[in-house]
Amino acid sequence: MMETMLTSELRSELVQRAVEARKLAYAPYSNYPVGAALLTRSGRFFSGVNVENAAYPMSLCAERVAIFKAISEGEREFVALAVVTSNGGTPCGACRQVMAEFGQDTLVLVADSSGRLVHEARLSELLPGAFGPRDLGK
Ligand SMILES: [Zn+2]
Repeated sequence: MMETMLTSELRSELVQRAVEARKLAYAPYSNYPVGAALLTRSGRFFSGVNVENAAYPMSLCAERVAIFKAISEGEREFVALAVVTSNGGTPCGACRQVMAEFGQDTLVLVADSSGRLVHEARLSELLPGAFGPRDLGK
């Protein structure tokens, strides 16, 4: 199977896809639109936005929308995830845990709404000591 490496072109495209996705966020309550884009090992892109709800706890983060879209289409291995907010907010703990299910090496690129990179780190740095499949013998 083709192994996708994160070239500078792919990095830029990933961030740009998250910038574009963010414009479709449904965030009428927080007014904090978030866009995410995920690059899979097989070279496919999946975008996500935060989707809020009048019953607040039903809301879902952009990162998990992107990840669940990818999983539902057969993807299991991820190279990188870009997340874009107005001010370079980083993925929440729940999203970090969901990402950890599919590997500790995924690169997380955090950018602002203009696409300027604010922070980047491996998931293993964002969620050290994560509980994962290995803890259940997988
Ligand atoms: Zn989250």
